[in-house]
Amino acid sequence: MILVEEALHQILQKIPRLGMERLPILQARTRILAEDIRCSRNIPPWDNSAMDGYTVRWADIQGASRPNPAILRVLGDLPAGRVFKGQGGPGEAVRIMTGAPIPEGFDTVVQVEDTEKDGDRVKVFVLLEKGKNIRFSGEDVKAGEKVMEAGDFLRPAHIGMLASLQRSMVSVYQQPRVAILSTGDELLEIDEPWEEGKIVNSNSYSLASLVAESGGIPLQLGIAKDRREDLTARIQQGLVADLLVTSGGVSVGDYDLVKRMLNELGQMNFWKVAMRPGQPLAFGTISGKPLFGLPGNPVSSMVSFEQFVRPSILKMSGHKNLFRPTLRAVLREDISKKAGLVHFIRCRLIPEEGKVYATTTGEQGSGILSSMVKAQGLVVLPREQTLARAGEEVKVIPLDPLFSHSPYPPFAIKE
Ligand code: AMP
Ligand code: MG
Repeated sequence: MILVEEALHQILQKIPRLGMERLPILQARTRILAEDIRCSRNIPPWDNSAMDGYTVRWADIQGASRPNPAILRVLGDLPAGRVFKGQGGPGEAVRIMTGAPIPEGFDTVVQVEDTEKDGDRVKVFVLLEKGKNIRFSGEDVKAGEKVMEAGDFLRPAHIGMLASLQRSMVSVYQQPRVAILSTGDELLEIDEPWEEGKIVNSNSYSLASLVAESGGIPLQLGIAKDRREDLTARIQQGLVADLLVTSGGVSVGDYDLVKRMLNELGQMNFWKVAMRPGQPLAFGTISGKPLFGLPGNPVSSMVSFEQFVRPSILKMSGHKNLFRPTLRAVLREDISKKAGLVHFIRCRLIPEEGKVYATTTGEQGSGILSSMVKAQGLVVLPREQTLARAGEEVKVIPLDPLFSHSPYPPFAIKE
C-alpha cells in the first residue's frame, strides 16, 4: 500500500502531455493554448474617440464655460470607420463619432452634451484635460507584447482577444481520449431488462461524465465479464485511447482479474493506496498507455477518479496546474475515523457570513451513490487523524462548480 501523494507522484511521472492541433478559435474555448500569442500591431491601432462629440485643439478651449463658450469652425463629420483627410488648425473642430480615428492636428474630444451646434460652428462649454475622451493607440495591447502564453486556459475573453488579433486559428493541446470499461459479471447495461441479482452499470456513466468535465473525450467500451478473454479483448480495444480507466475487479476476490491482466499485458506500478474510499486502486501501463484500475464501488471509483485520473487528464491536456483549488470549511459535526488512511468524506457546503460550513451527507458507505449526489465537496481528513470536532476548520475539495472557480480550474492553491 502506498500513500496518496506517492501514488500521485508515480502516476504523473507516467502521464505525457499530448501533441498539438490547430483549431478555429470558437472550437478552442476551454482548451489549453499550445503557443504564445503576441500582438502584431497596437490595439487600438490608432488614437480614436471614446465619445460622440467634437474633436478639438486643447489650446482652443482654454477658459471655455457655459456663459463664455469657445466657438470653433466645424470642418466636417467623421463617422466611425472613416478616416478624416485633412488637418485641424487653430479655431477648428471636427464632429466625431465613437471609434473614429482622431484627425491630425486635434488632441482632445468634447462630448456632444457639452457642446451646441450653431450652423457651421460649434459652441464648446467646457474646458477638459488635454487628451480627454481619447483612447490612445496601444493602450490595450502594444505591438510585440505577449498577451497569452502556452498553458493558458482559453476563456471567452481569450477567444475575443484572438479575434481582435485576426487570429482565426490557434494551436491548442489535443484532448485526451479516455477509454472507460466496467467489469463484472453482475453488471447490466442501462437499457437491458432488469434481472434479479444484477446491478446496473452506473460507473460507465459517472466516469464518462467526469472525463468530459475534466476536458477529456470519453470512449465507452461497455462491460467486460470477469473472464480473461473478454477483459483482454476489451482492454486491447481501449488502447486506441490515450488513457484507460476500468472499474471493478481490483480487490482480492477470485474474480478480480484487472490487476492480473495489467501485470500480464503490461506493467503494474502499484496496487492499493492509503485512502478511503478508493483503497484498491491499480495503476500501470499497457503498450505505453496508462491504465487506472479503479475500484467498482460507485463512490470509490468517483473519488479515485477525482484524486488521480482528473489531474492526469489535465496534465495530458496541457494544463499548468492540475488540482482544484481547495478551500477551508468549518465542520458542523464531529467526525471520527481510524488512523491509517486518508478519508474523503462527502459533505454539503453551506456558505454563511463569509465562511463555508460543512456537514456530512450521512451514510458514507462506498456503495452509497446518493451521498455523491448530495455532496458539494469532499472533506479531507489526514491519515493519522482520528477525530475532527464540530467547529474545527478542515480542508475541502470542492466538487460543485459553484464552490470552485470553474469546472476546469486553470490554477491551483498550494497546500
Ligand atoms: P468489485 O470492485 O468488482 O468487487 O465491485 C464492487 C462492487 O461495486 C460490486 O459489488 C458492485 O456492487 C459495484 N459495482 C461494480 N461495478 C459497477 C458498475 N460498473 N456500476 C455500478 N456499480 C458497480
Ligand atoms: Mg467485480
